[in-house]
Amino acid sequence: PRPPALSKLSSELCAIENSGVFSNYGPVNTQLEKALTDDLFDGLGGCLTTSSATIGLILAIREAAELFTDRKYALMPSFTFAATAHAAIWAGLTPLFCDIDRDTWAMCPRSVKQILETYGDRVACVIPYAPFGNCIDLDFYERLTSKYNIGMVVDAAASLGSLDYSGHNFGAGFSNPVVFSMHATKLFATAEGGVIHCGDGDRLSRLRAMGNFGFTQSRVATMLGLNAKLSEIGALLGLERLRDFKEIVAAHVAIADLYKTQLPEFTFQRVVGQRVAYMFMPVLLPASCASRRRMLIDAMARRGIGVRHYFSPHLAEHPFFASKCVIGDLTVTQEIAWRVISLPMSDKMAVEEVTAVCKILKEEMGVLLWELIFYHPAKLPNSD
Ligand SMILES: *Cc1c(COP(=O)(O)O)cnc(C)c1O
Repeated sequence: PRPPALSKLSSELCAIENSGVFSNYGPVNTQLEKALTDDLFDGLGGCLTTSSATIGLILAIREAAELFTDRKYALMPSFTFAATAHAAIWAGLTPLFCDIDRDTWAMCPRSVKQILETYGDRVACVIPYAPFGNCIDLDFYERLTSKYNIGMVVDAAASLGSLDYSGHNFGAGFSNPVVFSMHATKLFATAEGGVIHCGDGDRLSRLRAMGNFGFTQSRVATMLGLNAKLSEIGALLGLERLRDFKEIVAAHVAIADLYKTQLPEFTFQRVVGQRVAYMFMPVLLPASCASRRRMLIDAMARRGIGVRHYFSPHLAEHPFFASKCVIGDLTVTQEIAWRVISLPMSDKMAVEEVTAVCKILKEEMGVLLWELIFYHPAKLPNSD
């Protein structure tokens, strides 16, 4: 992603300088929150900006857990970014990891229900992650949270631009906080920044006060607080990003479609909803090649192509989280994390570049497979 060009914003930056207002939910920030609500969330609910999505998650999780001070767990997938678990720990909870669905790579409803049967009365908050911007079934969680009477916050860091089945941005108008990132590496790229979207206005007001030192009246703390505010400069970048966001999303969707047509032999994430605003292209290697992922990534790098493996290691494999968290059955998580790679994607990637990446990937996979067949035929499973 390319954040908005700073060099083109001199008059807007001068206006901020002349206003003398640099932060504290100033006029540029107010304009951004309204524009996000109107343009991205079709006027549903409201938005509150934060200095990052991680800070937004900490705020929202802490606020949700406040109702259940005698409970200690935050239920979340292990297949997510470190920020989800860190945020829960900062909010005073212990992450409890559960497994994901084999096709959508989101928390598996069966696994969630199973864990809640055992830990239900000790779970303060469930924190589903919308993996790689793919939508998740929020109605399922709505029913679940009322059945078990637990809090909920959605980590939707990569979901600005993703559309659910009704054609709204993921999370639009949802009753619990949905947290998005505007980090430079996300599709809605600024520099640093987050957005909490919520259909519940009172909840959003409380989070706004918490994000401003817990002040409800002028400079009087009436609740737990911290400084979660986005600066006016950060808000300006957000407004600028909003201008060309539709084109950026369209470009990424077109690149994702190209990858999918050119790599029919690979397993992609099953799309939930109308559109995923992918910021890179996650794909599974055939199980027979997964043990050679490092070699494949190195071979691709030698040919000038950057390939990553996001969320692998998954959280339960990080030493810090392994020592702090409770780990459920993660059979599917292990397999997906073992096989996943992320292919390059950027706003201006040309058709020929995608084609070249696919061609080189297939060539390098071919080399790996040959070696496996030639030197280690016994290691090749019959399937895949
Ligand atoms: C990027 C990301 C975050 C953190 O967002 P920041 O704005 O960088 O704090 C949290 N969770 C997930 C799943 C992410 O991908």
